[in-house]
Amino acid sequence: MAFFEIKNLLVRHKSFDGVKTVLDIDKLTVEKGETYGLVGESGQGKTVLALTILKLLQCPPGIIEQGEILLEGVNLLKKTERSMQAEIRGKRIAMIFQDPMSCLNPVFTIKDCMVDALRQNHKGMSRKEAVSQAVKLLQEVKLADPESTLVKYPHQLSGGQRQRVIIALALCCGADFLIADEPTRNLDVTIQASILKLLRELQKKHGMTVLFIANNLSLVGAFCDRVGILRDGRIVEEGTADQVVSHPREEYTRLLREACETKLKPTDDSQEEILLRVEHLKKYFDINDEVRHIRHQSLKAVDDVSFDIHSGEVLGIVGESGCGKSTLVNTILELFEPTAGKVYFEGKDIFGESNGSQGNAFKKNVQIVFQDPYWSLNPRWLVKDIVAEPLDVYEKLGEAERLIRVEELLAMVGLPGDACYKYPHEFSGGERQRIAIARSLASNPKLVVLDEPTSSIDVFSQNQILDLIKELKKKFGLTNILISHDLAVVHELSNRIAVMYLGKIVEFGPAREIFEHPRHPYTQALFDAIPRVGDTGMEGIRTLEGQIPSPINPPSGCPFHTRCPMAQDRCKEEVPQETYYSERHYVRCLLAEEQQEKGGDVL
Ligand code: SF4
Repeated sequence: MAFFEIKNLLVRHKSFDGVKTVLDIDKLTVEKGETYGLVGESGQGKTVLALTILKLLQCPPGIIEQGEILLEGVNLLKKTERSMQAEIRGKRIAMIFQDPMSCLNPVFTIKDCMVDALRQNHKGMSRKEAVSQAVKLLQEVKLADPESTLVKYPHQLSGGQRQRVIIALALCCGADFLIADEPTRNLDVTIQASILKLLRELQKKHGMTVLFIANNLSLVGAFCDRVGILRDGRIVEEGTADQVVSHPREEYTRLLREACETKLKPTDDSQEEILLRVEHLKKYFDINDEVRHIRHQSLKAVDDVSFDIHSGEVLGIVGESGCGKSTLVNTILELFEPTAGKVYFEGKDIFGESNGSQGNAFKKNVQIVFQDPYWSLNPRWLVKDIVAEPLDVYEKLGEAERLIRVEELLAMVGLPGDACYKYPHEFSGGERQRIAIARSLASNPKLVVLDEPTSSIDVFSQNQILDLIKELKKKFGLTNILISHDLAVVHELSNRIAVMYLGKIVEFGPAREIFEHPRHPYTQALFDAIPRVGDTGMEGIRTLEGQIPSPINPPSGCPFHTRCPMAQDRCKEEVPQETYYSERHYVRCLLAEEQQEKGGDVL
């Protein structure tokens, strides 16, 4: 008897359009102690399956027509709601969701959440015992300073810390089967790697069986023993991680694999002419927080950043969340007032003339596409009005001409003309991002900033959006700044790369050089944390320990010394300067300086 088994499961969904089959699984088995990866793009039924297992699927509109879900031979579908709650959820099967923020009650501290969960599941446990058990669990998930974490609210923790709290909550009731639904989807590569390693350690220690749900085949290949590919609610291919990832049989699996593979670098279309020059830009935020007793301090979000961008070039800016990537571009775009420094666009000082006609020309020529198209598009506006907004500001066209231009812009991004009369919620994530791109092109800009353009959409839509960006760039000769924590996306589009850490650029240079030979220890750590297609097992993935230090009180010397595996004593005191490998490639690291002084190849 398998530890966990699904037999002939048929789940349908009722809507105004009729009844649709969402899951049709003949057989799926997971053996005790095994990690089974379930892969598919969005909308294939992965999350519906997780909810059905826990009997959390809302019925109606869901209809579980037939089938068995067996945990050690006991059919969960036959259990009553009361016995699922008392015996199964949390006690036998725990679940980690994609977005930890939505699982933690924002008005309770972590202590309240954990103590409540522990006392509900361990009858007779005193509050004091529950608090000390909560501290132990937070230690087990490797949260530094568990006592102070306990008194924090969810919003005061980083994404990675919140996910560790969720894992601690999953452990607190002693479940032996864990369903992890895309637990690292919105996390940086370094944090993703450390969360996966933590899950693997805890799985071994507690003898847990894991059902790991994801849309990224390379991630699943590295983490799981066996893999099933879910398409339209059916398992279309199944086998060991190595078989499925390295030798896929189905065309759909091959497409999933291709979506994860790094493609050839784009050709360098950049010209000599400098479009944008940033000189010693700083953005400090004043902090005056009475509750946390922080007074008259500065948060150095961007700290003395300089670079230039040539016409036709794509500059990728990478780094973990909180490194200052978005603040940097928002300051360049004058969405934040700069603390110091200059920005020149086509040779003109932007900050010196922001209120005049030159300032308007800059705004027309520089547009931005935000990370989440659901939030950046007004849900109460029709698509035609969203796309035409920049036209209304800069061109003031008549109604008929305006509509023609909107239809042209939509056609450019591959959307039909009838999209004009729909609202954003009627589109998929990828289509919404196309609408955002169409809007960004409406004013015929020269520079388009892409702020994490693919991070909130699934792998297939990601690829389509990347292809579209490349096509539009070629067609209109656009220059781009691309912000992303996804190095594969940056690799695919960028000509040059800036790696940021704690508000500073630590490595800057041609993308090909950096991807082939990352020089700074931080850049190397970012690369080491990515699972590559075909890797099986977690051995090849290295993690970067520790959190990014606070930019309110950054470490002395080299800001990376608190996490750097190569740090020496002098790194705590001396601030590294730029060491050049070539005219356009530098790093800020004392080891590089030292080796260059000795005349050797650096790092
Ligand atoms: Fe690491 Fe020291 Fe180089 Fe900083 S200066 S990156 S701490 S080796």
